[in-house]
Amino acid sequence: MSCMVSANAQIQNDDIFKMPEMDRSNIRKLIRFPDFGGYHTMKCDLHSHTVFSDGDVWPSARVIEAWQHGLDAIAITDHLEHGHLVRKTLAGDFNTSCDIALQKGKEINFIVIKGTEISRAKPFGHMNALFITDANPLSTPEPLDAIEIALRQGAFIMWNHPGYPDNKSTVYPVQEELIKGKKIHGIEVFNEVDVYPVCMDWCKNMHVAFMGNSDIHELAADFYGKDAIRPMTLVFASERTEKGIREALFAGRTAAYFNGNLAGRPEHLSLLLKASIEAKTVDDGKGIVEVTNHSDISYRISFDSGQVDLPAGKTVRTTLPKQGKALVMNCLTGMREYLSIDLPL
Ligand code: ZN
Repeated sequence: MSCMVSANAQIQNDDIFKMPEMDRSNIRKLIRFPDFGGYHTMKCDLHSHTVFSDGDVWPSARVIEAWQHGLDAIAITDHLEHGHLVRKTLAGDFNTSCDIALQKGKEINFIVIKGTEISRAKPFGHMNALFITDANPLSTPEPLDAIEIALRQGAFIMWNHPGYPDNKSTVYPVQEELIKGKKIHGIEVFNEVDVYPVCMDWCKNMHVAFMGNSDIHELAADFYGKDAIRPMTLVFASERTEKGIREALFAGRTAAYFNGNLAGRPEHLSLLLKASIEAKTVDDGKGIVEVTNHSDISYRISFDSGQVDLPAGKTVRTTLPKQGKALVMNCLTGMREYLSIDLPL
């Protein structure tokens, strides 16, 4: 059949021909992080907004873009307190945005986690309640009451962007009390485009989960670019389900990932690194090794006599000390604290 234009056309007649290759909505980006130790490495963005608070995007579109961006799960966490036009117009049920997103998640087989953001000026700041069952009773004058109600619903409480909006990360008595009572379970060390180094020390010392999330309000492709990778929380889950994610979060089996950097506990980061790379000796006399990095994160290995990059998705032949310690400079285990590994790889 002859056509006037070139295309992988399917229906072709003089009334219509279709160019399905121009529809990119069914194409998903691949983000490669290996599984390890019996856990599935799940890529989760646990902080996002829709038009039902101060975001620009309809909830179902959030879910589709999360799938397209290679994520395994997203939490919709609209503010209870502030919103714009849609919230004012459709005032009433704080569950609506999650209900719409959950319905879309079901349709496309994608995990959507029901959440909400409890927002106040500092000292309380902003906290996400994840895995809630009903957002409405959380709309209380006193934010600590909202936390208690969320906890009774089985929520995971995440302290959001501690360095916002004053560029200072401070543990006030209110958070100290919550942490002491095991009522804060995770802290964001990456949020939108921000990094909070001091919060990495908090996660380490207070034994709460390292979290990284986009807090996206705009279309993700508008904000991070079409192919960019947004901040995310890697969750090391025993099963690829919402239940699996929840269990792993409470157990602190996470790492925050953003812009080529990981932040997390050394036991998780070292196993992730080990599962990512494959090393073999090429020339023992000269100490030449060949290292293949199967993951999408490049690792920067530093040792006494130099530094070696293990680029993402590539094989590199290089010289490494035969034994001793090395630091992985883009794997943070605390503020200015890098993952220490044993050589040989
Ligand atoms: Zn937020």
